[in-house]
Amino acid sequence: MRRLSAKTGVLDLVHNYGVAKAERRAVRGMQGESGEIKYTTCYMCACRCGIKVHLEDGRVRYIEGNPRHPVNRGVLCAKGAAGIMQHYSPARLRKPLKRTGPRGTAAFQEIEWEEALTLAADWLGAVRRSDPRQLAFFTGRDQSQALTGWWATQFGTPNYAAHGGLCSVNMAAAGFYTLGGSFWEFGEPDWERAKYLMLFGVAEDHDSNPIKIGLTKLKERGAKFVSVNPVRTGYSAVADEWLGIRPGTDGLFVLALVHELLRADRVDLDYLVRYTNAPWLTVRNPGAADDGLFARDGEGRVLAWDGRRQEAVRAEDAEIAPALVGEVTLAQGRRAVPVFQRIAERYLEPRYAPDAVAARCGIPAETIRRIAAELAHVAFEEEIAIDQPWVDWAGRRHARMIGRPVSMHAMRGISAHSNGFHTCRAIHLLQILLGAVDTPGSWRYEAPYPRPVPFGAKPAGKPGEVRAGAPLPAGPLGMPEGPEDLLVEADGTPCRIDKAFSWEAPLALHGLMQMVIRNAWQGDPYPISTLFMYMANMSWNSAMNTEETMAMLSDRDERTGEYKIPRIIYADAYFSEMVAYADLVLPDTTYLERWDCISLLDRPISNAQGPADAIRQPVVEPDRDVRPFQDVLIELGVRLALPGFVDREGKALYKDYPDYIVRHERKPGIGLLAGWRGSEGDEVGRASANPRQLERYVSNGGFWQHRLPPEQLYYKHANKAYLEWAQEMGFIDEAKPVVLQLYSEVLQKFRLAALGHGAVQPPERHRARIAAHFDPLPVWYVPFEEAAVDATSFPLHAVTQRPMPLYHSWGSQNAWLRQIYTHNLLYVNRATARAHGLADGDWVWLISPYGRVKCQMRTMAGVNAATVWTWNAVARQRGAWNLAPDAPEAVRGFLLNHIISDLLPQESGPRLANADPVTGQAAWYDLRVRIERAPAQEAGLAEPRAAVLPRLPGLAPPPDILRYGADFKASFRHD
Ligand code: SF4
Repeated sequence: MRRLSAKTGVLDLVHNYGVAKAERRAVRGMQGESGEIKYTTCYMCACRCGIKVHLEDGRVRYIEGNPRHPVNRGVLCAKGAAGIMQHYSPARLRKPLKRTGPRGTAAFQEIEWEEALTLAADWLGAVRRSDPRQLAFFTGRDQSQALTGWWATQFGTPNYAAHGGLCSVNMAAAGFYTLGGSFWEFGEPDWERAKYLMLFGVAEDHDSNPIKIGLTKLKERGAKFVSVNPVRTGYSAVADEWLGIRPGTDGLFVLALVHELLRADRVDLDYLVRYTNAPWLTVRNPGAADDGLFARDGEGRVLAWDGRRQEAVRAEDAEIAPALVGEVTLAQGRRAVPVFQRIAERYLEPRYAPDAVAARCGIPAETIRRIAAELAHVAFEEEIAIDQPWVDWAGRRHARMIGRPVSMHAMRGISAHSNGFHTCRAIHLLQILLGAVDTPGSWRYEAPYPRPVPFGAKPAGKPGEVRAGAPLPAGPLGMPEGPEDLLVEADGTPCRIDKAFSWEAPLALHGLMQMVIRNAWQGDPYPISTLFMYMANMSWNSAMNTEETMAMLSDRDERTGEYKIPRIIYADAYFSEMVAYADLVLPDTTYLERWDCISLLDRPISNAQGPADAIRQPVVEPDRDVRPFQDVLIELGVRLALPGFVDREGKALYKDYPDYIVRHERKPGIGLLAGWRGSEGDEVGRASANPRQLERYVSNGGFWQHRLPPEQLYYKHANKAYLEWAQEMGFIDEAKPVVLQLYSEVLQKFRLAALGHGAVQPPERHRARIAAHFDPLPVWYVPFEEAAVDATSFPLHAVTQRPMPLYHSWGSQNAWLRQIYTHNLLYVNRATARAHGLADGDWVWLISPYGRVKCQMRTMAGVNAATVWTWNAVARQRGAWNLAPDAPEAVRGFLLNHIISDLLPQESGPRLANADPVTGQAAWYDLRVRIERAPAQEAGLAEPRAAVLPRLPGLAPPPDILRYGADFKASFRHD
């Protein structure tokens, strides 16, 4: 519990209220002249910027960035400004719908909410009373996972996750198991101090505006920005150096950099000794059950070798002088080597030398050597020292904060490969060897990270933990620490419908949403009765193998005539393609019509300066019969009498979602929002609920932010003041150091199981795969599809990029954003196009081992020669989203998804998911293709094209000419 009168609280108060006062004066002035302004949070992508919505006569006049907001500081992108057209979209659902015709035909009748909720509660209630596993509840890009995950827990189904499995779980899992934090929105480069930034395949929808603001700062200071990406678009277009790497080889490139640094003896040994497990002793006992595990004393404490005393000592003791290299003999004659010894042995091997990897990566050896030298130069010759005393976890006082001003950042480009987990681990290895984690100028944690590795929460859903009519004992997602934490039956059969946390994907921290429909359709590992999805366009641009997915959703059991997935409940704000497959549609509001919270219990909006969270508030009233999905979920929880949703008499504990936001406590004193807690609203972090908390957020512009004092700003993984404060806030259970895990014993435990050790071992068919890919040190291997497919028949890589102006399906129906792109093209390297006899504007067939799509192409210089690419999620099914059936998105746009398989090519046995073997992350970017010219008579229309969907009941035809705002123009006055 912290009061605002405490030292840091005063800073909060000054920051949040001092500025708010001036802002409120400005707001009052503007209200007098141009209507009302309301502050809320943008939902046009995952970045979650603060926005000011200007209203006139109850309508949205324009949107601008909130200059005080910690995420965007007033910056607004094209998507954010076009939120008006998202809100007034002709594709908005208007009323609950019940299916009246075959699935996939979009035949519905409108029904009242009471009927919809009764139907949903009846279906879900029957499932819960018999076998809660029969419900698969998966959500897309929603931002309320703190609620949805808890709802699934109370319902009692382990079959829950959001979309992380098809997005970037490789990056999250690699970070959490290595650093106790991650790229993405869990950390950021030190934009103020970095002198060198390497950016790997970043997507445009996470941390978007902070990256744009940060790149501006770097460029103003003359820092070097190197982009590693097969395609030179977006951020890469403004990089000082673009490395057009071949897809799927980033890990090899990074390990070659590691080779060079080790060879030149350019690593930060002091940092390694103090903050990482580099000195920890690992047992060297080939073939035995303890081989590769950490050497421990009788009390289970990890050992290191003290070079002064020449004996094994506890690695956690601060005053030791641990050896980093050499082999030692322990009691009972066991041999052991420090982690760093293994690192040196592994990465000094010639196979990681620049000359050995250059051709495969498509980056010259001399470039790799130069980049390594530049990194080392900036890290060690341009060291930063801030005169800021701080105290480390052991109580040692440091007069200054020493920084290695090399920053790295990464996302989906490296993540969406079947070797993505290890690639991301390799980048973290590189950062750590340079001493460049949470130091001045390097990549920095964002609260509530760092957290211990692993965090401690294990996934629930083991045999015996799922019981009829009962909640799960814990959340369905967590961090396994070894094979005993898997969710598998005694014979190794997965317990979850998506096979997360099974031998197919042991560390599937975010589930495998991309496999739910196939597994449910196949009844593998078991059939389900109800699929409940929210904001997940799984029949279209979120599906691998789109056409087959559509067929599975509408396939019937030959014997009974019933659908193989008997019931589908779907919630969305728009007429997305997935709506057509639902039996029951629950219409959601737009983001401008509801309360929401951007919680530290979910994906936070903190930055390295301190934690932050935010709200959305309704800025306009719905003009349709729709309800916020979060309210609906709470109502269903009440109707189902889920524990935590009702009291002993069955009475609702929460009136609605805003009430839940304010009063729900996940642990004593820990609620969804961290600001203005306590009965008086003068506490932060761990404190009782404040009934007026939302008012305080509204009056502060929709967000709360705490600024860390200078002595807590760096070395957070080992900084005593920070760790103690984080414990007080409830971010971590104990104020212990987070030791960076260069070598992962968790991975080694899985490998030992695969080699025949331990009580829980994989079935025979998974042994070799687990043994090969659960390497405790980062490895690189050829992506699975590339290894399996004939390179002569399919010589090219095919990837997608996220366009800056569009966010998944949402953007490509937005009237203003459609003026930027109405269809996508296939981009081909100029030399490659010439070799194929192709030119700008040609129509081509793009052929993979699984199918073919027809599209129009364009040449460009800024793409790796062995790679073709296109924009993601522009194409639409004809009629969907209330677009005209002949809209360019529907007839000229194409989806790469049609030719990506959700399963790996395999000669025998049940086929495995086309995914990373460690985390289950969908391997979208492993796709291999060839390109052929389409005959002239086939030019003009993209293929394949699914059936035309009819307009839904209640939806008005879209206007031919959009005149929104014309009347505002007439009344326009300069503010
Ligand atoms: S970056 Fe994303 S959240 Fe920020 S303004 Fe743009 S669309 Fe909105």
